[in-house]
Amino acid sequence: MKVIKIGGGCLKNGPAARKIIELIAKRGEGDVFVVSAFYGVTDILISGIEKALENEDGIPSIITRLKTLHNAIIKILIDDGNKKKQLSRNLSGIFKKLERYYYGISFTREATPRMRDMIATFGERICAVILSKSLSSMGKDSTCLFPEDAGIISDGRFMDASAVMTKTSKNLMAAMALVMTSRKIVFIPGFYGVSESGDITTFGRGGSDYSAAVVAASLKADVLEIWKDTKGFMTADPDNIPHCKLIPELTYEEAAELSYTGAGILHPRTVEPVKKAGVGIAIKNTYNPDAQGSLITKNACTAEKIVKSVSYTSDISVLKIYASGIGARFGILSMITENLALAGINIKSVVTSQTCISLLLSRKDIEKGHQSIKKIRPVPFRKSSIVTDVALVSIVGEGLQNNRGVAAKCFTAVSDANVNIEMISFGTSNAALYFLVHEDKLDTTINALHDIFFD
Ligand code: ASP
Ligand code: MG
Repeated sequence: MKVIKIGGGCLKNGPAARKIIELIAKRGEGDVFVVSAFYGVTDILISGIEKALENEDGIPSIITRLKTLHNAIIKILIDDGNKKKQLSRNLSGIFKKLERYYYGISFTREATPRMRDMIATFGERICAVILSKSLSSMGKDSTCLFPEDAGIISDGRFMDASAVMTKTSKNLMAAMALVMTSRKIVFIPGFYGVSESGDITTFGRGGSDYSAAVVAASLKADVLEIWKDTKGFMTADPDNIPHCKLIPELTYEEAAELSYTGAGILHPRTVEPVKKAGVGIAIKNTYNPDAQGSLITKNACTAEKIVKSVSYTSDISVLKIYASGIGARFGILSMITENLALAGINIKSVVTSQTCISLLLSRKDIEKGHQSIKKIRPVPFRKSSIVTDVALVSIVGEGLQNNRGVAAKCFTAVSDANVNIEMISFGTSNAALYFLVHEDKLDTTINALHDIFFD
């Protein structure tokens, strides 16, 4: 049995979804499909929360917008008029419930994390129901299994939950045994699980990839396929390097590192559960489903020059904290990280020296993070500053650390291209080397590195 994740560009609109439905009808019997919301729906749901907080008058228009968007898709997916009507009736119950949650927020003037997570999951629920009913309308044996019924158990952390694997695996096996047959097509909404106390908790934005990995690992699937409208992992971003190539094989570590620097193919935590269970991940292109794609396994081959991809993210900024003898003093780092955690700010990475701690944060968090640490009393540092005009570049390939000359080759290429390296992080992972450059030099850097490792 395969577990297949569909989402993103594949669910962009009616025609894209129709294509997917036909593909599933042709080759999805006996498989489990974990789905994300239709394109843009989660954003509408979340922005609806803010609108509801302001004023209840905006609620009907949020609901209408969501209904219109989904009805346009249903129109293309289901040909039979009666079945279309029946599905719309089914969905109106779900929309009613959503509407009530919004009014609840509006009346209480409060959106608790519990409520936010509950609302955010409606896109996945609706999508799973629509896809499952569409397949049924084509005469296929299809059903929907919700995480709360299947027992996908989470640790209860709102908006950033993780699955409790042993319990989830036991529950899912049992639930699947009840519904699965060799012809059945099962849809599971991704993005969330349910805590032991019954709370709906999401796995963070983009978390349906992680859901699919949890399901694949729990069911010991033959493979986890991620259906995408792209070819797979590439040696660089095709927007920067049009002649970049597909990476046919990657290790779990390489895939995890590439997800982190914004290759945008996988949610960064997707690899965790499948790696433990030894289930491989195959990235498949829905426009060319028989093409090779990228395969992620434990024993993936090594690249000729070790490096498999040059990647980057522009969503990076540095919070610099200056103090003397950092390495010899207790508690500065923990004080700062605790302060940022309380402010709800995620730290992407930390690099320290004896005189300066550099915290890498998302650009959207940098101002808030800086203001927040300035309030610590007594002030544990001498000075602080921020840098925002940088980009984080990485070269990824398992064995980087043990292979002499790879780092030297990388830095020589960058220096020959007249680019100054602002900060380096090396040695924390055996599969990646990270450094910062000025954002104006990003293109030059990526080109120089791709040339040296792939041309
Ligand atoms: N729909 C959710 C989001 O937009 C989860 C996902 O797409 O994976 O974050
Ligand atoms: Mg996604």
